[in-house]
Amino acid sequence: MSERKVLNKYYPPDFDPAKIPKLKLPKDRQYVVRLMAPFNMRCKTCGEYIYKGKKFNARKETVQNEVYLGLPIFRFYIKCTRCLAEITFKTDPENTDYTMEHGATRNFQAEKLLEEEEKRMQKEREEEELNNPMKVLENRTKDSKLEMEVLENLQELKELNQRQANVDFEAMLKQYKEYEEEQKRKEQEEDEQEMKAMLEEAQNRRLLVDSDSDEEPAKSRTKPVAEVKPTDILQEDPQPQSKKLKTESWERSVGKLNTKSQLAGLVTVKKQKPDPTLANGMENQGTTADTGNC
Ligand SMILES: [Zn+2]
Repeated sequence: MSERKVLNKYYPPDFDPAKIPKLKLPKDRQYVVRLMAPFNMRCKTCGEYIYKGKKFNARKETVQNEVYLGLPIFRFYIKCTRCLAEITFKTDPENTDYTMEHGATRNFQAEKLLEEEEKRMQKEREEEELNNPMKVLENRTKDSKLEMEVLENLQELKELNQRQANVDFEAMLKQYKEYEEEQKRKEQEEDEQEMKAMLEEAQNRRLLVDSDSDEEPAKSRTKPVAEVKPTDILQEDPQPQSKKLKTESWERSVGKLNTKSQLAGLVTVKKQKPDPTLANGMENQGTTADTGNC
């Protein structure tokens, strides 16, 4: 039984491990590895977004002519999940990061780019100053100048703001008030003028009517007689006195009938009111009603 599982092997005395033939494999051989996408990217061929952390079966290879401080740099090949286009990225030991190489664009790194840029500028300046003491002085004066300019600009802006504020809150309000008042005044004046004009017109019309009535009794006399007829019967009773009084005036009053012939019937009721201003017209109409009777 002790022979069944042998723990040692017999090496012949002429054994030479260097003589064993080696398996010939290329140095830049590719391995299949499982990895996660190290950053957000977007496929250039189809526009598909590949998010950080998406898992892939990738091929890994060592980049041949690139080394960072003796560290090998690796390249990975993955395939877009939608269009199967090949995407490659590399390790970036300098920044402890990965760099996009081909087939996609890296996304969501604007902030990082900005930071990098700032860092780079700072570094450049520091280097310059290290080698050149004059440069240090120059930079310092530049800085102080810039600071002064900024302060001045700020002051100017503040003053400008104040000036504007003054104009805004006092002068403008005043102006606006004045303008409003003026507008009101104008409106009132216009109203008054209009009123005056209307009054004058009305007076003129009355005068005209009065003067016209004498001239055109012939025209109007015929029509009203026909229209007034149906109401005549009703008016007979309440109008004995007006008949007497206005028989002489009906001829001049007939002119009014032209405009108010339709109202002739209704007017009879009003006629009895003792309204001094309307008396003329009313009585006239009353008489016209009488004309039918006559
Ligand atoms: Zn794609």
